[in-house]
This record gives sequence, C-alpha cells and structure tokens, in this order.
Amino acid sequence: FTKLTLDTPILIVGGAGTIGSSTALHLRRRGYTNLKLIDSYPFPSGGSGNSQSAGGSDLNKIVGYADGGVRGELAEETMRGWREDPVFREHYYEVGELALASLPSNIASLHSEYIHHKTSPSNHPDPDPLEWLSTPSDIIHRAPHLKAESIQGWQGTYRPRAGWAGAMDAIDSVGEELKRLGGVEMIFGSSGTFSRPLIDPLTSRCIGVIAKDGTRHFAERVVMATGAWTPSLVDLEGQCVSKCWIVAHLELTDEEAARYKGIPVVYNEEVGFLFEPRYVRDPSTGTSRWIIKLCDEFPGYTRYLPVRPFRPGKSGNSKPIPSEPINVSVPRSHSDHPTDTVPDEGMMRLRRVVEVMLPEFAEREFVKSYCCWCTDTDDAEWLFCEHPSCPGLFLATGDSGHSFTSLPIVGGQVADLLEGKMSPERMERLGWRPGRGDPDHTGRGGPPAKDLGDLPGWAHGDDPKEV
Ligand code: FAD
Repeated sequence: FTKLTLDTPILIVGGAGTIGSSTALHLRRRGYTNLKLIDSYPFPSGGSGNSQSAGGSDLNKIVGYADGGVRGELAEETMRGWREDPVFREHYYEVGELALASLPSNIASLHSEYIHHKTSPSNHPDPDPLEWLSTPSDIIHRAPHLKAESIQGWQGTYRPRAGWAGAMDAIDSVGEELKRLGGVEMIFGSSGTFSRPLIDPLTSRCIGVIAKDGTRHFAERVVMATGAWTPSLVDLEGQCVSKCWIVAHLELTDEEAARYKGIPVVYNEEVGFLFEPRYVRDPSTGTSRWIIKLCDEFPGYTRYLPVRPFRPGKSGNSKPIPSEPINVSVPRSHSDHPTDTVPDEGMMRLRRVVEVMLPEFAEREFVKSYCCWCTDTDDAEWLFCEHPSCPGLFLATGDSGHSFTSLPIVGGQVADLLEGKMSPERMERLGWRPGRGDPDHTGRGGPPAKDLGDLPGWAHGDDPKEV
C-alpha cells in the first residue's frame, strides 16, 4: 500500500468524539491536508461519551494526573496541553481534586501512590504537588462544603494542580480550530454514520466506509474512533466491553451556587464524584441555570444484544464474512432516546452521592439523569492498532472510562500509529490482544457489571432493546 504523505486521504469515523477530534487536530497540525471526519452527530458530538445528550450538555470531566499505563506516561504532556494549548486552556478549570476512599484496601492503594509520588519525583510522570489527607478536618480544609459526620474514616490525596474541563466546550473548540485550519471535510448525520467498511476485493484492504444512507467515503486510511459503539460496528473479538455509567444534574439557586462556586472536584471511589456548579444555558428554553453534575462509582452496566459487527475475511479471502449475530454490549445514545433515564437502583446510588457529599440538598430532586457510555479493555489501556486482518482499518478505541483527560494529546498517539512512529513497545501494549476484554470488570476491579436489560426504571416509552 502507498506510503503516508501529507495528501493521503484519511477518514476519521467518530471524528466529533474525544479521540476522533483529537486525532483530526493532531493530523492537521502535522500538515495533513486531505482529512475527512464523519460522525453521526455534529460538534460537540451528541453521541460522544462526553455528552450523551442532544440538547443538554455534559458539563464537566475530571482532568488530572492518570496513574500508570500509557496515559500515565503521557500525564505531563496532557496537563501541559490543558494549561497551555490555546484550543484547550480556556476550558480547563484548575480548582484542585480530592481522591478519597474509606475502605482500608482503597486507602492503602491511594497511600502507596502518594508515597511513590513523594519518594521518586524524578521518575514520576506527575511533577505537581500532592498532599495526604488523613483526617476529616484535613479533608474539610480542602473541601469546606463536606461535613465531618458524612466522611468519617475517609482518607486520600489532594492535588491542587488538577480540576475539570468544560467537556463539550473543549470538543467544540477542537471543531472550531479544525474549521479555522481548513483541510478537513466534515460530514454529519446519516451520511456521516458508519454502516460498514468498503473492502477492496483484490487486496482485502479497507478503502473507505459506506454510511447509513449509502454514501461512500473513500480513503487510504480509515480510523475507527467510534468509542463505545466500536465493538458493535467491528468485531473486536471481545477486546472491548462497552458499559454505561450514570449521571445526574442538580439545580442550585444563585445564592446556593455562589457558596459552592470554586469547590475542588471531590472523588470517592466507593461513592462517586461531583463538580462545582456551572451556569448552563438550556437551549430548549433559552434560559440559564446553575447545575452541579454528579456521578456515582460502581462497576457500570452492560447491554448485551445479538448484533452483526463487521468481521473481515481470513487473509486471501476478499469479502467480509457475513457473520452470525454475536452477543455484544451495545450502547444506547441518550441523544436518540432522550426520555431514557437511569435504572431505579442507580438512582438510589446517585441520591447517596448527594446525601454524603452535598447533604444540604439531600431532599432536592434531580433535573436530569442519564447513562453515559465507555468501552473497557481488561488492562485499561487503549486499543490503538491496525486491524490484523483488514489493512487500512485502524482502531482508536478502548477509552476505559478515563480518556477525556487525554483530549489534548491522545490524537498524537493515533497520528504516531498512522505514521509508523509509535514505538514497538507501545504498539505491543496498545495492539490487537484478543480474548482480553473486560466482561468481568477485572480492568477496574469490583464485581461483574449488571446488564441494563435486567434492570427496571431507565427506558421510558421506547423499546429497551432498540439500539
Ligand atoms: P466518544 O467521545 O464517545 O466518541 C465516539 C464518537 O463516535 C461520538 O462522537 C459518536 O457520535 C461517534 N459514533 C458512534 N457511532 C458512530 C457511527 N456508527 N458512525 C459515525 N460516528 C459514530 N473521562 C475522564 O477523563 N474524566 C472524567 O471525569 C470522566 N468522567 C466520565 C463520566 C461518565 C459518566 C462517563 C460515561 C465517562 C467519563 N469519562 C471520563 C470517560 C470519557 O468520557 C471517555 O473515556 C471518552 O469520552 C471516550 O472517548 P472516545 O473518543 O473513545 O468516545
């Protein structure tokens, strides 16, 4: 196949999502001029794990140091991107982050990370200060809105040089920058929705994709950055398992918001996390209101359905094998099903986050709740590789629920892969590794994920089996 040159046609599928938009940005900044980006939704993508809501927004994502793995190795570069890159810096709010726990085993692992940080600063990827909080009063000193009676036994770290990013704003900013730079064709809606790849019958090489409405997009390199949808579009042989987590929005008055403005991100791995209030415009009413976004922590929910993802033929076989349906966990977009909320049991956990972390609002109803999708590998590393049986088709997925932080830099890794610059060691770690998905949730620890299909309370009006 042809060597990559600056005018090689490159197609990014899922280009308005986190990894896809970052890939487009990095390729464009490296001088590539023949880029096409397609997505079911326009910027900022309503299908992204980053938003999930058509008219509303995912307000914030934690931006902080990633512990371990390739994301950890890239932590310093990541934080530099948030602090210095003009595309990202105005969407980053460095309010600090508390990472807390109450179970002894979880406290022990936070403490060993703290000790590692303190004792080996020269080879630690995170040069920023880190403080150990060993008592409720230490914690309240950093997060004064917490109440001592709710956090007995909690310990953990405080990282002043971390915080959150305005998630949709940051992705939108990438879209604006791509428009400004030019050289990137963008197609959204059904002509931008991947249906299956186009395969050259002589070479078995991927030469583009066919969209939902039949539009053919030709390219010499196709990057699948379709997030949690990827395993239902291309058979990943179980390497990624898509799961959803749940989110709620709490509305505050001006006076209440003034009291909570500027609080650090508070994350407890046994409870959940929340952010300071944001003043958000509701496009459906044209009015603005103060919203606190919060999430609980749990093993996530799968949604297994029989589907037929693309499965390439064995080498020498020119046509994709029409596969029998296989059971894959398939996301369901809140943008397509805006009346979906969260399972009843999840709602109880979200209430607990409020009781523990915002006791003043224990009785207040949420104004919104929804599911948000990610796709997990068993080792929580990305799956960034060329498909071994379908040359020209590149996978850029396996976000493992932590990849929004990487927005400023993750596309550089995908660009390295396309350019053949990724180190063999990193290619091995991020490469095709079948049979190592995360059905039992080993990647994150904890019990196996329950299936949404077994749980009541989240599908309102629509058939819960509809994709
Ligand atoms: P996405 O950003 O979801 O992008 C996928 C794109 O593919 C979308 O634009 C979608 O529209 C498009 N697409 C899908 N199907 C098709 C198709 N058939 N054709 C064309 N386009 C298609 N990470 C953090 O770093 N910090 C956090 O605080 C954090 N909090 C989170 C909280 C929750 C509740 C959840 C669910 C996730 C959180 N994450 C967080 C994880 C983060 O959101 C994801 O890791 C990241 O957004 C995934 O990026 P992605 O590019 O793989 O997928």
